[in-house]
Order: sequence, then structure tokens, then C-alpha cells
Amino acid sequence: IDRTDQLPEAARESEVRSYSREWPVQFAHARGARVQDVQGRSYLDFFAGAGTLNYGHNPPALKEALLSYVAGDGITHSLDLFTAARTELLTALQQHVLTPRGLDYRVMFPGPTGTNSVEAALKLARKVTGRSSVVAFTGAFHGMSLGSLSVTGSESKRAGAGVPLAGVHRMPYDGFAGGTVNGPALLDAMLRSGNSGLDRPAAVIVETVQGEGGVNVASPEWLAELSDVCRRHDMLLIVDDVQMGCGRTGPFFSFETAGIVPDIVCLSKALSGYGLPMSLTLFRSELDVWEPGEHNGTFRGHNLAFVTAAAALRSYWRDNALENWTAHRAGHVEERLREVALRHEGLGARVRGRGLVWGLEFRDPELARRVGRAAFTRGLLVETSGARDEVLKLLPPLTVSDAELDEGLEIVAESVTAAAK
Ligand code: PMP
Repeated sequence: IDRTDQLPEAARESEVRSYSREWPVQFAHARGARVQDVQGRSYLDFFAGAGTLNYGHNPPALKEALLSYVAGDGITHSLDLFTAARTELLTALQQHVLTPRGLDYRVMFPGPTGTNSVEAALKLARKVTGRSSVVAFTGAFHGMSLGSLSVTGSESKRAGAGVPLAGVHRMPYDGFAGGTVNGPALLDAMLRSGNSGLDRPAAVIVETVQGEGGVNVASPEWLAELSDVCRRHDMLLIVDDVQMGCGRTGPFFSFETAGIVPDIVCLSKALSGYGLPMSLTLFRSELDVWEPGEHNGTFRGHNLAFVTAAAALRSYWRDNALENWTAHRAGHVEERLREVALRHEGLGARVRGRGLVWGLEFRDPELARRVGRAAFTRGLLVETSGARDEVLKLLPPLTVSDAELDEGLEIVAESVTAAAK
């Protein structure tokens, strides 16, 4: 279906946009796992704001909290002043997330985006250690500002900016279950050898599952070994949980499964639960070496986002229900995707994921794109990721119903059949 007829001619926007090319319609309304375009056509959303809408669009409890706050003239912008909304969020974070997990983190509001959280983490690691280099992984995505871009892997995103590799040591992200290479062991050997030429880095920054990199899942053992190497060589471990945090992989923090406690954690995307921009950088208390005002910004957390974030933590993280639910569904999604891969063995499709983030990798990136387009015409939004956009990335809201989940998976199956013809 050609839906470009819906687009306004006056939209003189930069060519830099990309999602809008794949889905050339104007979206207007959304609730739960469904969005609607201006012509009233409904789509199942397995894109969910690239991992932002873990509780779906306009989740009722959050909407109610937001509406009542605005109706009561609650303060919206307050820089870093104490506000009731801020205190409520910090209390909910302690009560429902940090205390039950025995985590003793200081909380910092570094700005509205995931990128802001990564920048603060990198700067803090440098300040604490007095060292400046960082270990980052192939396939990593950490953001678009120059510091976060320097630790991002994608050559196409880095190229124009001329972001130098100086200060960044790139290691292979080889933590896939059953992999034969071992990045952490290599790093350990280099740091021990005394003549590797590798000056001791300040930190290692890692995603437990690479979202933009193509749903690459590190094994818990690999992550645990990486954490050990960091301890052994006095490097800080930064887990970028911007996309995989807030329950995407099951537990609130994606690193919980590996039994590790990072020194610094970056959170954003699904944190506000309502698609409102917000991020946090969490770090061990003894790393709090910031001077007042040393790292500031106008939008370091917005009270409307605090209100929905606190409501999200109260609604979804009071007990383990959502986590258990996600774990229960992971097996079902994996099974269905494996069936699809098996049915089309000739395509060499590979399946991987955790919780409710799943990737279906094709040998031919064009095929992955065709599957995405076929899904769109059948009413499913699903994006591609990976170095060559060769991986169909499924990120349904965690609150998707069983029927919607099956409907989406059925569309994926049909779309692969259609695209493979
Ligand atoms: N880190 C990770 C792991 C991400 O997936 C993203 C966004 N895709 C970012 C950082 C950057 O977040 P933002 O786009 O909000 O700046």
C-alpha cells in the first residue's frame, strides 16, 4: 500500500529522518500495543519507541497520575530544586527497585536522553580514576553526542563526525552463548602482560544485550567474567541499560541475571513509562566525587516525567509479576520465531533474544527490510537493527496481551513467507 498520500507537502524536514521512510504515514493516537494513523488504520506496535514504551502507549495508571498532577497545577520545570514529584520518584525507586535488590546507588539526573546518561557515566569514570581511556565493544550503541559516539561501534554514524578512536579501546563483543573467542580473557591477558601497550583504562562500557547492534545477547558467564576483570584491574564497569533496562529482558536491570553489580548504570528510554524524556545515571555511593554544579543542564529531569516514572514503578515493580510474565512469554516468542526460521531454512535466519527483545537475523539485509515492509502493510510496526540492518528486532510492550503477541508473531511469519517469494 502506498500511503505517502497522507503526508503533508509542507513538511520540509531534513533527510536525516529514517523511520518515517519505512512507515510513511502520520500517526495520531495510541493505546496499549496499538497505534492509529490519521486515516484510522490500526497497527500493532512491536517497535514501542525503540524500547521506550515498555508499558504500552498511554498506560492508564500513568495517564491518571499525569492528568491529576497537571490539573492540580503541579510544578513542571524546576531545574534541580527539590520538588514533591522528585522526592516521590526517588522514594519509589528506592522502595521498589534498589532496596529489594540490595543495591546501594546514588542517583543523578544527567539530562533528558540516554546519551546524557552515558556522557555523565564516562565523565564520572574519568574523574574518579584519573584515567581517560575506555574499553568499548564492537556493535555497541551508546548515543550520538561526541563522547557517547566515540564508544559507539557503527562506522556510518561515526564517520562524518570524525570522532577519533583515541582513548577508546575496542574489544570484540563475543559473549554470545557458545562463542569461541573470549574478550574479557583477552583484556585480562593484555593488562597483565606488562608489554601489551594497553594503558589501564578508566572503565569498560557494555550493553548486556546490544539492541541497535542487532540483538546480540551476552551470556551471563561472559558478563560475570568481564565484571571480574574490571575488579581485578581496578576499572569501573558501566552497564548501559538504556534500552535493556526497566524490564525489557525480564528483571528491572538486565544485568541481574548475570549476578553482577556494575559500578555505574545508565537508564533512560522506558524509565518515565510514558515516553517522556528522562534519564538517570546510578553509581556506587563512594564514586560520588562530583562538585556541586560540575555537571549540569537545564532539563535534568522534568517533573511530569517524575510523576509518570514514579507511577510506573509503583504500578509495575511493586512485585515480580511483570518480570515473571515476561520470562513466561520469552519461551513462547522464541518457539514461534524458531518455527519461522525452520520453515524457511534456506534463508539462514537466526533467532536470538531474552525477555521481550527478540531478533530474527537474515543473511541478506534486503530481505530483513522486505520483511519489515511486508509487516507494515499487514499492520505491524517492527524495525530492523544490526550493522547492515539485517536483523528484524521485535520489542513489543511488556504489557502486550497474549492475543496481540500471537497476532504480531503471525504477521511476522506471514511477512517472512511473503518477502521470501
Ligand atoms: N544507549 C543505548 C543502549 C541505546 O539503545 C540508546 C538509544 N537507542 C542510547 C544509549 C541513546 O539514547 P538516546 O537516544 O535517548 O540519546
